[in-house]
Amino acid sequence: MALRVERFALQAVARDILPKTRTALCLRARIKGSEGVGVWKCEKHGTAHYSGLQTCGSVWSCPICAAKITERRRLEVQDAINQHRQAGGEVQLLTLTTPHGRGDDLGQLIQRQAKALQAFFRDFTVRAVLAEMGELGRIRAFEVTHGRKGTNNGWHPHYHFLQFCQVKADAAQLMDWRTRLYLRWDACCQRAGLGSPSFAHGIDLQDGRKADRYISKWGLEDELTRGHTKKGRAGGETPFDLLRAVLADKEDRQAAALFLEFSQCFKGKRQLSWSNGLKARFNQAEKDDQEIASEAVEDAQLLGLLTVQQWRDVLKVKARATVLELAAAGGWPSVSRFLWFIDGAAEGVQFDADMLAEARALLMGGMAIS
Ligand SMILES: [Zn+2]
Repeated sequence: MALRVERFALQAVARDILPKTRTALCLRARIKGSEGVGVWKCEKHGTAHYSGLQTCGSVWSCPICAAKITERRRLEVQDAINQHRQAGGEVQLLTLTTPHGRGDDLGQLIQRQAKALQAFFRDFTVRAVLAEMGELGRIRAFEVTHGRKGTNNGWHPHYHFLQFCQVKADAAQLMDWRTRLYLRWDACCQRAGLGSPSFAHGIDLQDGRKADRYISKWGLEDELTRGHTKKGRAGGETPFDLLRAVLADKEDRQAAALFLEFSQCFKGKRQLSWSNGLKARFNQAEKDDQEIASEAVEDAQLLGLLTVQQWRDVLKVKARATVLELAAAGGWPSVSRFLWFIDGAAEGVQFDADMLAEARALLMGGMAIS
């Protein structure tokens, strides 16, 4: 639940930075024609969620939608890997990065990388190496960090590929493939105007254990758990780290500006993409991010409906996460008492953060407010 509370707070930060986007309306604006805002509880997971609200489905800009989407995508990937291994296959992890510096324009960097990648996978030598690997297909994961707290080398967009191969390889074989692939990657990067990546940093090729570790940590939960120990870590800040920085310090204008730049450049880009035919091979459904974001949670029960006015009160006092915490801990009785408490918000009573925190604490303890 603590992670969910943080996601609501981070989403509110994203809303301030991106006021004219669907993320600004996500889990705030009601779906037209819905009766009210439903509050649901899932006993199995001890969690609660809303219905009747719009969702943005943005895996890049919205911490709440991203959590839901990446969790589902991870299961799809893991299932495909399991099937592939059961059939005797291997999975290798290929990582491709390019040189970058603090003065880079993110949009231009991504465009050049796309050009280099396209040339790379069409390259004759690369295709010969992939054929040696017995590569059936690959899943590409797109990621970005920013190094403002470390060596300040700017944006670092990069790619990880889970390669579904048929040939088992030892360390020497992997090194041979890596070297041959590097020479082509270097050439493609230079031709795309990206400069020359070093052998040490530009390319990596690892076996199945690394692939497992990567996918088990891939996505948001990982970011959230790492979040607390983050400052100045070598890997740089992720986009949601930038939101965290703004949440911690409203004066961090740099973080807000970087998140805006990121959000504009990544809009419409795919976070995870499967090569042609690979999803069908492993019987994975073709569902887009928006569909997943708006899907109902299984095994959940409707506790009650908030009226339009009650929902306005909740938004006004910024208590979207609090209502869900109360629903998960104390069910509808706790939610109703809280709604009764904030009812005055409509008449202009000012609720400060301390008052709300006190009410929350009382209700989480199972006591009524008198
Ligand atoms: Zn969203």
